[in-house]
This record gives sequence, C-alpha cells and structure tokens, in this order.
Amino acid sequence: MAAVVLKPGRDKSLRRRHPWIFSGAIAEVQQAPAPGETVAIFSARKELLGWGAYSPASGIPVRVWSFDPDIQIDREFFHRRLASAIQLRRTLPGLRHTRAWRLVNAESDGLPGLVVDRYGDFLVVQISAVGPELWRTTIVDLLNDIMPNLGIWERSDLEVRRKEGLTPRTGSLAGRAPPPLVEIQEGAVRFLVDLVQGQKTGFYLDQRDNRARVGAYVAGGSVLNVFSYTGGFGLSALAAGADQVTQVDASEAALTLGRQNLVLNGYDATRVTDLPGNAFDILRRLRDQAMHFDLVVLDPPKFAETAAHLPKAARAYKDINLLGCQLLRPGGILCTFSCSGHLEFSLLRKIVADAALDAGRDARILERLGPAADHPVNLAFPEGEYLKGLICRVE
Ligand code: SAH
Repeated sequence: MAAVVLKPGRDKSLRRRHPWIFSGAIAEVQQAPAPGETVAIFSARKELLGWGAYSPASGIPVRVWSFDPDIQIDREFFHRRLASAIQLRRTLPGLRHTRAWRLVNAESDGLPGLVVDRYGDFLVVQISAVGPELWRTTIVDLLNDIMPNLGIWERSDLEVRRKEGLTPRTGSLAGRAPPPLVEIQEGAVRFLVDLVQGQKTGFYLDQRDNRARVGAYVAGGSVLNVFSYTGGFGLSALAAGADQVTQVDASEAALTLGRQNLVLNGYDATRVTDLPGNAFDILRRLRDQAMHFDLVVLDPPKFAETAAHLPKAARAYKDINLLGCQLLRPGGILCTFSCSGHLEFSLLRKIVADAALDAGRDARILERLGPAADHPVNLAFPEGEYLKGLICRVE
C-alpha cells in the first residue's frame, strides 16, 4: 500500500482536521504512488491518521480525502461526499429564488480540489488538483446519477493546475454543451452567464447575498460599482432604486455582457455609464474631477495570491479604499471586499480604517459580510475563508 509517513510532531494540523499536508511535514513516501493515487497517512509513530490524494509535483503533496482510518476511498466514498454536498444545498434557505449555486465547495465539502457550480440546466466542474483529476470519470458519472439530465461542462482552465503537473482543460463532460449564454436569476435580477468564456465558472456566485445586502443600502442616488464584472452589484442597485450606476472594469467583454444584462432586465441604458480600464487610474481621474457618489462598491480581484504578496496587496487595497472614500458624498456608503484568503478580516478592517483616516473621513462599520451559504467554510480550514467584506458609512 502506498503511504506517506509524517515527521515527528508534524501530525498536529492533521489531528485538527486540516486537509493539507505540506512537503516539509513528510518524512517518507512509501511505494512510489502515482499522481492522484490514494495514500495512507501515518504519523511518525505509525498510527494511521487517514487517506489522501498524492501529488508529487505540488508543494502540498497530500490533500486529505478522509480522517477516518477505516474508510475506503472508492466510488461509494465519492457518492457519499457528493450526495451530502448536494443535499446540504437543498436545505439552504437562500437558494429558493435562484437556479444557480455552488454544489461542491472543494475542501469545505470534503472534496479538496473540486468545485461544482450549477447554472440552471448545466453543471460546471472545476478540478484544480491531481486527486479529483484521477477520479474525474467517477465524479462525472455520479453527478449524472444524482442530478440526471444536466449538461456537464468542465472549466479547469486554471493556472494553479500547473503546480500539480496538470495542464488547463475545458470542454464537455456529459450531456448537452451549454449555449453561449445561460440565464440565471438572483432575487429580482436576471443575469446572462457565459459558462464557457466567463471568469471563474461564469459568475461570482459567492457574492449573491452581498449583492442583495448592498442593494438594501441604496436609497435612490448614484452608485459607483468598481470591479463590476458583468454588473452584478450595479444591477441589484438599480433593482433597489438607484438612479444612476457607473460600472468600472478592465474587461470589455464583462462590461458588454453587463449591457446585455441591463437590457434583459428592462432598464433604460442611459442610467448606466461604463468605464472600461484600470480601476486605479479611473478612480483617480474621477477624484480629480471632483465626482461624488452615494454608494461605492469595491470588489477587486484577489490581490494577494500568496502570503508573500500580502504587503504589496495591502497597499493596493489601501489605495483603492482611499479613493473609494474620497469619491463618497458625506454620509455615503462604502461596500468593500477582499477575496484574498491570506488577508484576514482584521487586516481588511485596519486597511479600511487607514484609508478613511488618510481621506480625513470618519467611518463606521455597519455590517460585516462573507460568502453566501452555498460556499460553506470548513472551520478546520481557514484558507477557505477567502471572501470578506464591510459595509461602512463614511461621514
Ligand atoms: N463584483 C463582481 C465580481 C468582481 S470580480 C460581481 O459581483 O460579479 C473582479 C473583477 O475585477 C473582474 O471582473 C476583473 O475583470 C476586474 N479587474 C481585475 N483587475 C482590474 C483592474 N486593475 N481594473 C479594473 N478591473 C479589474
């Protein structure tokens, strides 16, 4: 049996049910497992601690499938994990008015390296590690069994796959291929989603509840939606009664789809202004023109890819939040997010506090935000807690 043996004392995080084993924790690899093969995990004292997928090329050579020594990692195992992830979503209150949600949230659903999102009649599968890569056929087969008649499309076009010795991969896995645009609904708003070319698996489903929360602070007036993608926060602001929305994004394709979403929802095109380009430059320009808004949304991409990027990322978050504060009318609302797993909530809070201070504005937190419940966060896996946000009133 292929196995890894940990160094003395390096079993602590595993006993706390953290699902990653870093290369520095491993004393020995026995029987040369192939990429993705299941390995037994032993402590230095030779206790069997669980089972994981082996990834020789990765800095995380083992991702744990199960902490139960008595379990087999087989089709039945994946059936249980997938069925339980899917069943959880059936019980979540927030999903009654939408047909798009995350069915499987990787580590936080006990399936490291696997994301499955549902968009109406389609599933989008994203495999980022060599473990689920080996089990792809089984996983697709099981998804087909549990949720029959859906088209299953793969969007494993992720650079992180290279760290696992894998190349990006996309295409049909089962059933019908998705049409160019799939329509979904979030509350009162309809969105067109490009499952094939869009960012992530097509849409930022994790922000669903926050789009509604932010909408609740709109009382007419003007909204600046920075890093708008296809207009999510901007459209929910219009639905909530905003008079004018300005969408800022570097992706022209995203802004174009945002325009289509506007038409789909029957809004007058003159109520929205698109500003394509680099948000940092655009916000500076708006500030220099003395523009002001009633509500500003800042939902930047992940600035801190790794812990080493954190100081540089913190400066970028500070910069964008400073500009955000300067662009708000007195008494305006700042809705600010970070999706960097390495940046903790307390640091986001500090960055926003520093930004308000530099802008010479008093600010108070009204709400703290996280991902929607279909993106559960395993308490044993802090890395899963990537999305965090604050709604602040800025005087
Ligand atoms: N708020 C969106 C999701 C935003 S994702 C929603 O609710 O759907 C981050 C967005 O930032 C992406 O659309 C990406 O194209 C854009 N982006 C990345 N870097 C940027 C930059 N420097 N300037 C402007 N937009 C940028």
